[in-house]
Amino acid sequence: MRSEFRPAASAAHPEFHTPNPALSSPWPGNDTLPRPDVIAIDGPAGSGKSTTARALASRFGLLYIDTGAMYRALTWAAQQEGVAPADGPVLAGLLRQAHLELKPGRREVAVFWNGRDISAAVRTPEVEEAVSAVAAHPEVRAEMVERQRNLGRVGGVVMEGRDIGSVVFPLATAKIYLDASLPARLERRYRQYRSRGQDINREEIQRELAARDRRDSEREHSPLTISPDATVLDTSDWTLAEQNERTEQTVRDLLARQENHARSAATPDQLPFKYRWAYSGLQAVARYFGLRKIGLPGPAVPKGTIIASNHISWWDPPLIGSTLGRFRVRTLAKAELFRFPPSAAFFRFLEAIPIDRSGFDNRAFAEAIATLQQGDNLFIFPEGTRRPICNPGPIRSGLGILVQKTGAPVQPVFVRGTCHLQPGGSPLSPLEVRFGPVVHMHALPTLAAKHHSPRALSRRIGLLFEAIYRELQARSFAENPPTDWERTTGARQELAYRRKVRRLFGGRAGEPPESARG
Ligand code: C5P
Repeated sequence: MRSEFRPAASAAHPEFHTPNPALSSPWPGNDTLPRPDVIAIDGPAGSGKSTTARALASRFGLLYIDTGAMYRALTWAAQQEGVAPADGPVLAGLLRQAHLELKPGRREVAVFWNGRDISAAVRTPEVEEAVSAVAAHPEVRAEMVERQRNLGRVGGVVMEGRDIGSVVFPLATAKIYLDASLPARLERRYRQYRSRGQDINREEIQRELAARDRRDSEREHSPLTISPDATVLDTSDWTLAEQNERTEQTVRDLLARQENHARSAATPDQLPFKYRWAYSGLQAVARYFGLRKIGLPGPAVPKGTIIASNHISWWDPPLIGSTLGRFRVRTLAKAELFRFPPSAAFFRFLEAIPIDRSGFDNRAFAEAIATLQQGDNLFIFPEGTRRPICNPGPIRSGLGILVQKTGAPVQPVFVRGTCHLQPGGSPLSPLEVRFGPVVHMHALPTLAAKHHSPRALSRRIGLLFEAIYRELQARSFAENPPTDWERTTGARQELAYRRKVRRLFGGRAGEPPESARG
């Protein structure tokens, strides 16, 4: 009963690049700007997200989706049915049965629950008080996130909420985090209530906002966080018009930057001969195995970038390497590979940087940082070791450390099919190297100023990349669903991996301890 969240077009074209048929007006950015798939607007209650997101959507001719209204609708329904906000499974069941619709309204989004217009009912203090408790349940969030992804998957949306950039669309084309001080948000909320004719005193709003801030940011599942790659705009001192204007400009700048990447990468470089030789060899091997390269907008990854891939097989480095053929790329390779003279000579020829994974290898990190600072590319496997197929992550701290030390952008790469190669392509596991958009960690200075430790920042960067790999995998599976061979091999590898971790470290069968992931 939720057809509104499964537009026919999304079932037929599960890809992101399908134009949204719901849009009547074309993307008015000029020819030099790419059309955005998803613009994610996150931020705390009262930061002006809704107003700005709606203005952006109408300015750019995109579909506006207010995810807060979805959580509010469920909260209202729970109150009608007498379901306690603490009862996650029953709340999720209620949502699964429901036909929940959002429609463009005159001032705010109109909300329908099983056909009944509840637009006014979801914007009352009673609903606001209970909504964060309802939104905290993982079962509820899983169902909401699935609906939100189905809505956005067709492309061309501005989606606003708390976890859009970090969880729902980790590869959103532009991510904005709108922040504002508590007094500024209080004032805006007060005026909003007054404009709706609702009488409520300031103290009550302040208490409610502060409590919601706390509950939304302290909950365990998808808390309100600033995604490290979001652009943070503090709107406390801006008028509404300024806020809309600056957000729009930021989105345009972000889109223009992506376009520049594609163009700047197009300049051929003076590559040393051995690189040209190695690249042609690798490209021949990739052609032989029928490799598909997907999603790289220009002919090469921009310079000075960390290229970070998931890792499933020994074949990953050469096959991914074959897709990078334009610039000098250095690789972090485990020190064991340098132990035997023939392989040591080969990896030296490739200018690989040996890394000792038993502890923190200062020398290797210093060389990796120098590589990026010189404008060369650095290729790494941020999982630190081969992982079972169909289950990317977790990400170790190395990626976050490199990003924090250099400010380098990161090119996410997802590899599939390297565990079963066959000339011309294997029917058991499609061979592809899939590129996401280049990720810039715009929010790191803001996060550091908010007293997040380097370790905590590395963790956030790691979580973001876990979400990115899962999303790239979902896109790959949407084009080519996982085969039986992939499912059974993935499950078998997973078991073996857990047994290995248990044998070596005596730890729990779940995630290996950080020190073991190498
Ligand atoms: O944005 P709005 O104030 O309408 O959101 C209402 C509540 O819904 C938030 O306080 C939060 O608890 C929840 N929410 C969420 N994730 C989202 C959007 C809203 O948890 N993406």
